[in-house]
Amino acid sequence: MSHIFPRHTKVAPPKAMRGEGAYLFDETGKAYLDGSGGAAVSCLGHSDPDVLAAIHAQIDTLPFAHTGFFTSDAAEELADRLVQNAPDGLDRVYLVSGGSEAVEAALKLARQYMLETDQPERHRFIARRQSYHGNTLGALATGGNQWRRAPFEPLMVETSHIDPCYAYRLQTGGETNEAYGRRAADALEAEILRLGPETVIGFVAEPVVGATAGAVPPAPGYFKRIREICDKYGVLLILDEVMCGMGRTGTFFACEQDGISPDIVTIAKGLGAGYQPIGAMMCTQRIYAAIENGSGFFQHGHTYMGHPTACAAANVVVSKLTDGGLTQRAAQTGDDLRAALLDRFGQHPNVGDIRGRGLFLGLELVANRDTKVPFEPSLKLSARIKRAAFEAGLICYPMGGTIDGQRGDHVLLAPPFILTQDQIAELVDKLDTAM
Ligand code: PMP
Repeated sequence: MSHIFPRHTKVAPPKAMRGEGAYLFDETGKAYLDGSGGAAVSCLGHSDPDVLAAIHAQIDTLPFAHTGFFTSDAAEELADRLVQNAPDGLDRVYLVSGGSEAVEAALKLARQYMLETDQPERHRFIARRQSYHGNTLGALATGGNQWRRAPFEPLMVETSHIDPCYAYRLQTGGETNEAYGRRAADALEAEILRLGPETVIGFVAEPVVGATAGAVPPAPGYFKRIREICDKYGVLLILDEVMCGMGRTGTFFACEQDGISPDIVTIAKGLGAGYQPIGAMMCTQRIYAAIENGSGFFQHGHTYMGHPTACAAANVVVSKLTDGGLTQRAAQTGDDLRAALLDRFGQHPNVGDIRGRGLFLGLELVANRDTKVPFEPSLKLSARIKRAAFEAGLICYPMGGTIDGQRGDHVLLAPPFILTQDQIAELVDKLDTAM
């Protein structure tokens, strides 16, 4: 018996033995097509020789140096690469080891910025229902998924939640996409006014909502309006691109497609592509300058931040995603996968919506396509699809609670960008079998 503390204590998972390209293999030799890249992590697939070589070379020279004492070539190079490819104004990079750490850093930096700029009464965040920002206590507080939050309430970071931008469920019959985008964004202004603008630090949102909603993209104009509202009230816009960033949606940052730039952005998952644990929080020079010209010390840090080996891996990942053209490939392959999904499931009586951007796609499952009535939560549909797909040799990411944390099911797909046409067909066939 293993002494490992598994996430699910009642079902022992198989043991993964090796990974190659878009596949993982267990101890019996069974192959699993990685249709979700783990959880939108493995953008390069599982055996990229260039990343492995970079890791080996870094370990041979400098495996680790604590950032309390040193910086490193690998970390500086990564910061430069990220800034070169980021939306305007995101000039500073704070390197951490994962998504939740990046979100914690963002929340604490935003709060400290308010203190350093003499706005101490700003202490609250606004976020959206049906969002996920991580499992540490601060990140959990901003996330809007009631099921995850409930056991730990009251949470320490004061956050209130507005409705997400979720056209499939919340757009009304006669409304244009633009009008809906505007209405959904105006909910932020109403909430800021309700709370008092002088008390609000920032608004936190995923540009394309991942785990809790199944690749829900914003309506046209939504984030432009959100940006305007944040500027009007001096509220920081914090975008969480941990899942949707790093080329997954077909642009390096997802928010590029919305024509806006945030004050703070968080990234992780695809940044290390599964080869190393790494994440980052990026912010504008204005925010950085407030710390630099104020106390001069960001009151936050982690032992493994800026880890040279993780940075060395991420440098290769970012170079492949940008100069290497893999992000464009995600856009193209995403179009192909979406077309295949529409072809197979477009008329399926239990598929209400097929959506997403690039290789970040979701299917919303409904008991009745016409009325959009969800399945009964007690059916545990998502969990059953996950098991059936796994049985068939497909890793996908089904989740329940799509609508409000309780009702509604979706399947999230986020495969490696190297997916071939044959693998697209295999993915769709296996998902069909499972459903
Ligand atoms: N933010 C988002 C949008 C995420 O999807 C996740 C992970 N699913 C996180 C934050 C937390 O990242 P991690 O699991 O690396 O802590």
